[in-house]
Amino acid sequence: RSFGFAEIGEGEKQARVDTVFHSVARRYDLMNDLMSGGMHRIWKDAMIAALAPPRRDGWRMLDVAGGTGDIAFRAVEASRRNAEVTVLDINGSMLDVGRERADKRGLSDNLTFVEANAEELPFDDGSFDAYTIAFGIRNVPDIPRALGEAHRVLKPGGRFLCLEFSEVDVPMLDRIYEAFSFNAIPRIGQVVAGDAEPYRYLVESIAKFPRQRDFAAMIEAAGFVRVNWRNYSGGIAALHSGWKI
Ligand code: SAM
Repeated sequence: RSFGFAEIGEGEKQARVDTVFHSVARRYDLMNDLMSGGMHRIWKDAMIAALAPPRRDGWRMLDVAGGTGDIAFRAVEASRRNAEVTVLDINGSMLDVGRERADKRGLSDNLTFVEANAEELPFDDGSFDAYTIAFGIRNVPDIPRALGEAHRVLKPGGRFLCLEFSEVDVPMLDRIYEAFSFNAIPRIGQVVAGDAEPYRYLVESIAKFPRQRDFAAMIEAAGFVRVNWRNYSGGIAALHSGWKI
């Protein structure tokens, strides 16, 4: 299914994504809860449990498309405030909200916020022990390029983890999910954020994102090994994992 956004070019795609997140930044956390029925919290907790940030000084993680900080905050807390986490996002409005939230929670000492593009990371090779990206990769126009950058900035032995909406593999749930996302999500967007169109774009980007197996092959093509995935909530979301050796 499609709302007709399929044929836009990469530059236009990024511009559209940026407009969505500038306009929604202040209400982003509320929208997440409404649209996922709170489930995004459970998936994010599961991602951090899989990562198991060590409770030792000097462990460095990069959270790309980190937005308002959900993944980064969880990682800092799980490491008992040992981890040094960089939150990178292309959108300054999302990062502003993230900085304010970090201050309120007293987590700022462990966090650095960087405005940059996932396709061109402003870090040296081999800088991080872990690279995470949650509900971000499908917004990036050139996914192979972003995966190549992930591989480059990781240290040998570094871990790659990507949480993303994926293909539902449970009969019936797939239909219910499609009906919900194509009808309800734009309506929730209209009511809460005052505009349905950005949410149509987001729903379509989910529908177009490669299925689990195909995305795993893209991660392997970027150079990662031992790539696998696990589904959450019947495949509504999936966590892909890989290692740089
Ligand atoms: N990771 C956060 C979470 O799970 O709550 C935020 C996810 S939000 C759905 C997607 C984020 O990706 C937005 O903050 C957006 O600005 C960011 N983004 C989109 N394109 C990007 C790019 N090319 N490079 C870096 N971040 C990007």
